[in-house]
Amino acid sequence: MPTLPGYYLKNREAILARGREYRLKNRDVILAQKRVYRQENSTAVSASGRKYYVANRERRRAQNRAYWLANRDSILVHQRQYSKASRRAKKAELYAAYGNACACCGERREEFLTIDHINGGGRAHRKQLPNQDALYADIRRLGYPKDRFRLLCWNCNAATSGRRLCPHQRETDTLLASLMKPCPHQVEIAAMAQASGLDTHADVANAPVSLGHAM
Ligand SMILES: [Zn+2]
Ligand SMILES: [Zn+2]
Repeated sequence: MPTLPGYYLKNREAILARGREYRLKNRDVILAQKRVYRQENSTAVSASGRKYYVANRERRRAQNRAYWLANRDSILVHQRQYSKASRRAKKAELYAAYGNACACCGERREEFLTIDHINGGGRAHRKQLPNQDALYADIRRLGYPKDRFRLLCWNCNAATSGRRLCPHQRETDTLLASLMKPCPHQVEIAAMAQASGLDTHADVANAPVSLGHAM
């Protein structure tokens, strides 16, 4: 009668193939069982994981080092690509949260846009953080508050520094003022006031409501 190791060695390929086939066929069941086992034995599982990690730390480190040395260039290329892509994604998320446009003039081209601290303190905030990515992450953590940050184009950003009004806003205000025609009621009140000698602006503004809109 063959000893067990002898039997195994003789039929190794067939045994392994059977195992592979079984695992493939019952993949979902096995994964579900493992999940349940891990949930029910979480302390023991993490303890044994830790034990394995400690026992094999040096070996794993050496493996990692060897892998790193053998694949250094491709790893670095991959890392650069990944961090570039993730940076782009974070920036896109932030810009989308703030409408992808200058809050002042509506400029939409990304190259012209920058994040603006509405209440000032931008320089101090940036100083606390190592880089632009960290700034994006911080604003994300705050939940993209609309009362503290906005997107501005570089022109509007420069023009509003020191809490000045952007020329766009001044122009809009002037335009709005010139477009705001008084209601005919107001014109009539002013005419009546003038006819009765009450031609000051304040009197017109404070004219009784009954004159204008009462039915
Ligand atoms: Zn702008
Ligand atoms: Zn502007």
